Amino acid sequence: MTPQHPHDPVAATLTADAPNPWGAVVPPIAQTSLFTFASYEAMAARFAGETSGPIYSRGDNPTVMEFEAKLAALESAEAARGFASGMAAISAAILSVVKAGDRMLCVRHVYPDAYRFMEKLLPRLGVRVEYVDGSDPAAVAAALPGAALLYLESPTSWVMQTQPLRELCALARQHGVVTICDNSWATPVFQRPLDCGVDLVVHSASKYLSGHSDTVAGVVAGSSARIAALNDLVYPYLGAKLAPMEAWLLVRGMRTLQLRMQHHAAAAAVLIERLRAHPGVTAVLHPSQAPAAAGNASLRGFSSLFSLELAPHLDVPAFCNALKLFRIGVSWGGHESLVFPSAIGRAQNAGPNPLLAFDVSGRLVRLYIGLEGVDDLWDDLQQALASARRP
Ligand SMILES: *Cc1c(COP(=O)(O)O)cnc(C)c1O
Repeated sequence: MTPQHPHDPVAATLTADAPNPWGAVVPPIAQTSLFTFASYEAMAARFAGETSGPIYSRGDNPTVMEFEAKLAALESAEAARGFASGMAAISAAILSVVKAGDRMLCVRHVYPDAYRFMEKLLPRLGVRVEYVDGSDPAAVAAALPGAALLYLESPTSWVMQTQPLRELCALARQHGVVTICDNSWATPVFQRPLDCGVDLVVHSASKYLSGHSDTVAGVVAGSSARIAALNDLVYPYLGAKLAPMEAWLLVRGMRTLQLRMQHHAAAAAVLIERLRAHPGVTAVLHPSQAPAAAGNASLRGFSSLFSLELAPHLDVPAFCNALKLFRIGVSWGGHESLVFPSAIGRAQNAGPNPLLAFDVSGRLVRLYIGLEGVDDLWDDLQQALASARRP
């Protein structure tokens, strides 16, 4: 594309291969709602698809496109689409596949709001959701015939159960069933679901991709045909577009993704080993601890979100309150370590497939290991475990 105003630094940024204005090493944010044209003919050509480029930021925006291209490259996808949140990406991906009268399959213990979307909204649109044990290929195979979609999240939320992605996707393909996989936990650094045969990968970019706890965003990646279907049916009309500022923050965060993931993985491995040996901890739920390697085969590394079951002689609220470096809060993926007690999350999760039904004791806490020093975090965990002992 030829710039309409070659000496105008802002117009120059709208061309894909133009250098940044003033040689800026960081591309500027295209914080604009609309894009103007030099003439009637230029506008008509853009609308007819004869020239490429943005028209309006609910459709395309150069900063958002930069994020989409980077994420697609990381996931070895042909195309990607940014969204205003992980949930916007998840709901759009599902709605681009299913229609009234369809039955879809979903693995147990998916992200709580994805589960609520399936329980509350999809039935109103005439879509039936059936939950399957994703770690059991025979059970999935039995449920596949006639289904429209298999929704995966590997590992799952809280219980951190992995699924044998290659095997499940091969089965789904035999039955003409589309697959979607939530890859927020592993990130493309540790797992590339499309390489395992998944059709669409979804992310909460609010977590590791952003990496700084300052953005809520999401993304869907897959083949050009699947992203085109999503663009045709869902994306412009639900209107949950990614904002240029958020996309810029994501691109900034993703520059250090590889380094951060290596640090998170190493720190989590050290702390998990120490926690497993501690008498105050009865179980650590993390894919690295899974007994069988089958479901782990697609993971090239383990990230730093996991659950701990505290021993009955410990008081969960006292443990949370005693932590100093770990803050109490939801979400994860930033610099700061976090703790989230399941007894609080569980209260909202009633339903036919209760998300936290496994945690009848309420002794589960979710830990996120951030970027602080490992020994400082271990000191903090040790003192909190000691002070949470019941009298
Ligand atoms: C946080 C999260 C989501 C939802 O993403 P938002 O950006 O909060 O909408 C989806 N899946 C997983 C696994 C998550 O942790």
